[in-house]
Amino acid sequence: MNILIIGGGIAGVSLANFLDKEKFAVTLIEQAKEWKPVGYVIGLWYNGIKILQKHQIYEALAGKGVVNAYQQTTNKTGNTLRKTSFEKLNQKFGVGVQFMHRATLHEALLSKMQNVTVKLNTNITALLQNKEKVEVTFSDNSTTQFDIVVGADGVNSKTRQLIYPETAPIVHEVEFFSFLTDAIATAPEGNIEMFGIGKFFGIYPYSKTACGVYCAINRQPNTTLKQAVLERVKENFKDFGGHIPAILAKLTPETSIVNDYVKEVEIPIWHQGRVVLIGDAAHALLPTTGQGVAAAIEDASNLACSLNENTSDLNSIFQEFTAKRKAKLKDIRKQSRFVHALMMSKSAILASIRNLAVRFSPSNSIKKLETFFDQA
Ligand SMILES: Cc1cc2nc3c(=O)[nH]c(=O)nc-3n(C[C@H](O)[C@H](O)[C@H](O)COP(=O)(O)OP(=O)(O)OC[C@H]3O[C@@H](n4cnc5c(N)ncnc54)[C@H](O)[C@@H]3O)c2cc1C
Repeated sequence: MNILIIGGGIAGVSLANFLDKEKFAVTLIEQAKEWKPVGYVIGLWYNGIKILQKHQIYEALAGKGVVNAYQQTTNKTGNTLRKTSFEKLNQKFGVGVQFMHRATLHEALLSKMQNVTVKLNTNITALLQNKEKVEVTFSDNSTTQFDIVVGADGVNSKTRQLIYPETAPIVHEVEFFSFLTDAIATAPEGNIEMFGIGKFFGIYPYSKTACGVYCAINRQPNTTLKQAVLERVKENFKDFGGHIPAILAKLTPETSIVNDYVKEVEIPIWHQGRVVLIGDAAHALLPTTGQGVAAAIEDASNLACSLNENTSDLNSIFQEFTAKRKAKLKDIRKQSRFVHALMMSKSAILASIRNLAVRFSPSNSIKKLETFFDQA
């Protein structure tokens, strides 16, 4: 059978690795002209690590990320509200949650990919399907028929638009900025997340000297983002304490800042005929889950496992795949929305109550994570 994977990100390259090449001729297309490092710092959690270990991909990541020991939550001046150790979780799962650049994980996945036809600088313009095949029209106007098409083309998925034109990502009234910094001479040994009023600043070490930053502010969608990004970061966080003044001082017009509105995807059905969606294309989660990458890898592993076994009834396979994955992601999505709303509280009173709650209420977040990973 021949299978087309649209999108060579984490989900697409994972699936290309996991499919049985005795059974499938795999073609993977990617719109980028070349494989070059793009993105931000990501946390790779146990559920993702477990699958990469199973497929001998984890070894390609050896020594390339860091294991962060804790999560420290502070107010905007840098006073600690809560510090949660990852030690118990790391011990339980026998491996530490890894923080690394997205490109490091992507390179590891690519380094293990074999027997896949890769076409860079390629997009799709149309999908036409009947009971037997899907005819795909590519950006160079050529057409090819495939038995199965997998849309792994991220939050703004063209595949999703083609099969369900009425669906669109949920765009939150929150703008994020993500960049790398070496402004802190010795990176902290854990993540630092700072809560302001309607503002959030997170620092995620990914080497002994370098950290990823994810910060966010409330903002009405449909305003132009591109202008004055650097100034917006500096202006919005100028009254934050701790490491922030040093980080802001090191920002220059050359700093590459990933900037967008926070988006989610939640659609009822992930498949149509011979076409199925995985990763962010199917279910982009809020960044507060820290689960986007692991979820993409889990989707790829689940789908590959089903297809490697049997392809006789694609509709049932895709239905079962979607039901299983949706059930797994339901609670984590709910929890991430709650945390996101708390993080971005606009009112000073609510922000004060939130800070008191974070400081004094017993934390059950680690217990929740433990239960979630137990089900992995
Ligand atoms: C700032 C930020 C921080 C994040 N931090 C974390 C974190 O700490 N932990 C975590 O787990 N997740 C994190 N995420 C989420 C995570 O990056 C995504 O969930 C994950 O990358 C999803 O993988 P994917 O393969 O589905 O999509 P992507 O990684 O977006 O890959 C999609 C690929 O498809 C290609 N493509 C798009 N359209 C087409 C087309 N029409 N034709 C061909 N190719 C196409 C794109 O170029 C890209 O290569 C973060 C996201 C952001 C924005």
